[in-house]
Amino acid sequence: MNLWHLEIPAPVALAIMAALGYLISRWKRPPANDLLVRSRRELKRAQAVAVELEKIAWDVRQNLAKHHTSVSRFKERVSRLSEGHCEATWKELCREAENILRPTLQLATQIASAYDQIRQQGASLMTFTEVRTDPLTGVNNRRGLDETLIAQLAMMTRYNSFFSIVMLDIDHFKQVNDREGHLTGDRVLQELARLIDESVRETDLVGRYGGEEFIIIMPQTDLAGACIFTERLRADVADRLTVTISGGVTAARETDTPETLLSRVDAALYAAKTAGRNRIFSHVDNVVQPVTVVPDAEPVPASEASALPCMR
Ligand code: GH3
Ligand code: MG
Ligand code: MG
Repeated sequence: MNLWHLEIPAPVALAIMAALGYLISRWKRPPANDLLVRSRRELKRAQAVAVELEKIAWDVRQNLAKHHTSVSRFKERVSRLSEGHCEATWKELCREAENILRPTLQLATQIASAYDQIRQQGASLMTFTEVRTDPLTGVNNRRGLDETLIAQLAMMTRYNSFFSIVMLDIDHFKQVNDREGHLTGDRVLQELARLIDESVRETDLVGRYGGEEFIIIMPQTDLAGACIFTERLRADVADRLTVTISGGVTAARETDTPETLLSRVDAALYAAKTAGRNRIFSHVDNVVQPVTVVPDAEPVPASEASALPCMR
């Protein structure tokens, strides 16, 4: 059907095409479970698209309302003209006019339903993001992290992909709260989250794991790459923020579960704290060792590190 032959106003026609394009791409979208592996940034972009589509849909509605009014006015004028003339001829004319307008009105109904679908899609995207977002810092919450970890481990098994994981903890954060108050503490958490989020790749996933602990999941990144990144981040935090961080890094293994992976990275973090804080340790081949070059920090056997009580 040619939209221009129906004499639909240009903005309406463009909006119809945009709405149809959106719906087609929506049908092609992977199932809900696959969405879990999407990064938070992708979701943000999707939200922005949904907002844009809502704007288009609103314009379409406005245009249709105008169109509808002019159609009604036209019909009214035709019926007024019929007074005093040959009624049969005018009735025929009205029928013809209605036939010409019917496809336009059908399109109007389709657009109205597309508009509803766009709204619903937008709302479910919002919900999807909201339940996985930490309200204070805007990064992923524990749920977002857990789901991504499970998805990454599944990808590892199925596609032989690899990834590394980093756990960061603010040093002596309790003192910040005690000395400067919780509001300042909250602001520090927000600043750190922003710095981490700005430093990572688009494909990495950042989340707040607990009070002042953050996790970064780094797909397709080996241990060496993750260590270089984390050490650079540690130095940036020390330079730019009022706090320092300690961190643990490890690479995922095929036999890992979320628990084994987290306990390894937690042991590395604990070793970094024990060694003096403001440093990064890695956990590789059962050995926990410093990433930061610190002359007096001896490698800690993994068995010892994991035997130590958990920080959290
Ligand atoms: P360490 O260097 O050993 O990590 O010392 P720490 O003081 O950072 O660690 P500890 O686990 O003893 O204390 C963590 C503190 O984090 C406790 C609490 O004051 C603070 N905290 C946790 N969640 C929040 C939060 O949402 N907002 C603020 N302002 N503080 C928080
Ligand atoms: Mg801490
Ligand atoms: Mg902690």
